[in-house]
Amino acid sequence: MKDISKIAAAVKTSTTLKVDALFKQMKADGKDVVGFGAGEPDFDTPDNIKEAAYKAIREGQTKYTPVNGIPALRQAVCDRLKADCDISYNANQIVVASGAKHNIYIALQALLDPGDEVILPAPYWVTYAEAIMMAGGTPVIVSAPESADFKITKSQFEAAVTEKTKLLILNNPSNPTGMLYSKEELQALADVCLKHDLYVLSDEIYYRLLYDGRKFTSFASLGEDIKERTIIVSGVSKTYAMTGWRIGYTASSTKLAEVMSNYLSHSTSSPSTISQIAAVEALNGPQEGIDEMRKVFEERRNYLCERINAMPGVSCRKPEGAFYVMMNIEKLIGRTLGGVVINNSDDFSLAFLESGLVALVSCTGFGCDNFLRLTYAVSMEAIKEGMDRLEQFIK
Ligand code: PMP
Ligand code: GLU
Repeated sequence: MKDISKIAAAVKTSTTLKVDALFKQMKADGKDVVGFGAGEPDFDTPDNIKEAAYKAIREGQTKYTPVNGIPALRQAVCDRLKADCDISYNANQIVVASGAKHNIYIALQALLDPGDEVILPAPYWVTYAEAIMMAGGTPVIVSAPESADFKITKSQFEAAVTEKTKLLILNNPSNPTGMLYSKEELQALADVCLKHDLYVLSDEIYYRLLYDGRKFTSFASLGEDIKERTIIVSGVSKTYAMTGWRIGYTASSTKLAEVMSNYLSHSTSSPSTISQIAAVEALNGPQEGIDEMRKVFEERRNYLCERINAMPGVSCRKPEGAFYVMMNIEKLIGRTLGGVVINNSDDFSLAFLESGLVALVSCTGFGCDNFLRLTYAVSMEAIKEGMDRLEQFIK
C-alpha cells in the first residue's frame, strides 16, 4: 500500500490533551487521581451566556452562518478589542473559528509556504510547533531560560532571523510559563519585525488573566505599521469558562482575513451558530465575573507557588498571568522516585502519576526539559491534595 501523507504522519498527539485523557480515564476507572493537566477553568460557563444559547435554539437560530462568523459576533470582538486594548478593527478584519486552536491552524495555513521559517520562543505551547509543521513550515526554536523569566530578548530574536523567516509566534501572557512581556519588551521585538519585514502571530487568549495589578499591552497596539503585520489570536474559552463551546477569533489585515475565510469555507464552514450567539453575550454582557474568577486564580497561584518553593528539590517562578506554573525539577534528576530513576521530566510525570496519582504535564513537549507544567485552573482542594502528594513523593 502507498504511504499516507508524510506531513500528516509526522504530527504528534497533543501532550496536554493526552495527559487530560489519561487523567479522565483513571478517574472513570475509580482511581483517586488529582489532575493538573489540561488548562481549562474549573468554573461553569456563566448563566447569562447559557441563557443566550437556549434562546437561540428556541428561536430557531440553528442554520449556517457566514463563514467568518455572524456580524454581531465580529462586531462584539471589535468592540472588546477597542475597550480592552485600545485597538480599532472593523468587522471584516475578524475571523471567527471553532476555537482559537483552529484559528492558529488556519492562520498558519494562510501565512506559510513550504520551507518558510517561524521563530518560536521556548517554552512554547505544544500546538504551535505541530501547527507550523502541518502548514509545511519549519519551527526555529529560540530558548528563553528560567533566569530570563522565560522571555526572549531582541538580540536572541534577531540572531534567529534568516531570509526564510516569515513570522514570530508570541504568546502573551504565556502558556506554559505564565510570564508577561512588558510594553517595552514588546516594542523591542516589534522593531525587529519591522526591520526584517516579519509577521507576528500574537496569541493573547489569556490577556484578561493577569495578577498583582499588571497591565496588558496588545502587540497590535504598538503602531499602525506593526498592526498591519500582526494577527491577534484570542477567544472565549479561558476568559468566560467556555472551552467546550469552541469559539476563537483572529483580528488581522482585511486581506489575510479574506484568505483565512476562504480556507474555512472549504474546511469547517462557520463554527456552531448557537455557540456564536452565546459568545456575543459573553463579549457584550456583564464582565464582572472575569475579575472574580481572576481573583480566585490569583489566590490559588499564591498558594501553589508557596508550597512548591517550600519543598526541597523543586522550585518555580511566580507567574504573572494565565493559569500555569512551571516547576523546575533539575535537582531531582538522577534520583529514584516511586521506584523509577528520574532522568527527565517525562520520567517524573509518569512515575508521579503511577505511584503518586497526580497528573502533571511534562514540558519536553513544550521545548523545555526538566520542567513540569501545573495548571491552577483546578480547585484549591485539588491543589492542596496534589501538593501534599508531591511532598510525599519527593521525600
Ligand atoms: N492558545 C493558547 C495559548 C492556549 O493555551 C489554548 C488552550 N487550548 C488555545 C490557544 C486554544 O484555545 P481554544 O481552542 O479552546 O479556543
Ligand atoms: N490550552 C490548554 C492546555 O494547554 C488546553 C489543552 C489544549 O488544547 O492543549 O492545557
